[in-house]
Amino acid sequence: MTIEEKVGKTLAELAVSDAPGVASLFAEVRAAMEEERQTLVLKAPPENQRERDCKALRDRWLARKNGLISQVDENWLKRSPKELKPVVGRHFNELRQFSSRMELERLLGDVPAGLRHSAKGDQIQWHDAAARLAGQQVRPEDDLGQHLKDGIAYDLKPDLTLPGYRRPLGSIHPVTRVLREIEDIFLGLGFRIETGPEVESVYYNFDALNIPESHPSRDDWDTLYVDERTVLRTHTSPVQIRAMEKYGAPLYIIVPGKVYRHDNPDASHSPMFHQIEGLAVDRDITFADLKGTLDFFARKFFGEKVRTSFHPSFFPFTEPSGEVSISCVICDGRGCRTCKESGWVEVMGCGMVHPEVLRHGGIDPDEYTGWAFGLGVERYAMMKYGINDIQLFYQSDVRFLEQF
Ligand SMILES: [Zn+2]
Repeated sequence: MTIEEKVGKTLAELAVSDAPGVASLFAEVRAAMEEERQTLVLKAPPENQRERDCKALRDRWLARKNGLISQVDENWLKRSPKELKPVVGRHFNELRQFSSRMELERLLGDVPAGLRHSAKGDQIQWHDAAARLAGQQVRPEDDLGQHLKDGIAYDLKPDLTLPGYRRPLGSIHPVTRVLREIEDIFLGLGFRIETGPEVESVYYNFDALNIPESHPSRDDWDTLYVDERTVLRTHTSPVQIRAMEKYGAPLYIIVPGKVYRHDNPDASHSPMFHQIEGLAVDRDITFADLKGTLDFFARKFFGEKVRTSFHPSFFPFTEPSGEVSISCVICDGRGCRTCKESGWVEVMGCGMVHPEVLRHGGIDPDEYTGWAFGLGVERYAMMKYGINDIQLFYQSDVRFLEQF
């Protein structure tokens, strides 16, 4: 008799009239459920069928109307003789708990994701299944104990053929996601990634970058000082000097990392945020190289339709200095609330590396020239995902994070 046929009959029709009979009947249901679940897990359906297969199995067992569990409730529990009701009720509750493994989320977690059927498809699946078995743990609440199959008692603990349990995996934080995306674009252009300390000397953070003693950014109100000669770096630019000292020219680097400012947190400010710095030093580098590279980057990141616009600006460590705006990605330059009706959004600062800065890095400015840029990663993530409050990035709210 199939399991459907069994749950379609009453206990009386099945000739079950005592507690041991009830126990083995329920054990059979649990074993059948587990077998079907394992079959699905080991089958590892291709990605496009995975959810459909999991849903079908869930519905077969858990559907309110005519699901196998509902039928056990209707035909075994509700229609059981009075004297068997307590024991059937207890088994039914256990079965219901046990059947939580058929809930969609858990099924999707257990069935391997991301497998695609290829020429070697089957082989890959079995490797995956074996790897999962190796890492599995048998949890006491999942212990099946003994159950009867074809009248023979099988001891199922521990059953090494059971698949392991997948803990829900996190996702990549939107700031990290954008960082990686930007890094990838520049890696593709032949830049390499360089990092440096977040606790930085005043020399590297200011002096070597041609930022004079009197500059307002050196003020306590803008910079977090550890002591008189040490700060939490206010930008990623000190790594420019460190990299020039370390590698000399030619040099093509990008510098991702955390920076710190004496700012109170609000919707657009945070005392800690991420920057990416770019630096290219070589013979005959001109402003045209800077424009061409940043224009390419903007189109890669924001989309091919995006136009860039360069405006003069001032930074102590570049000369000339510029700010880059892109045509608003929301309104395509026609003007909207995001771009304050201007059609343009400012996205980074840049310029030709100041000769004094090259000299501090040990590079001869008569022989080499260079360009640099710096951008705020959170701002890019906010534009890309339409986020209006920078604080959301740091609150670790799963409801926010699981959207990415
Ligand atoms: Zn706009």
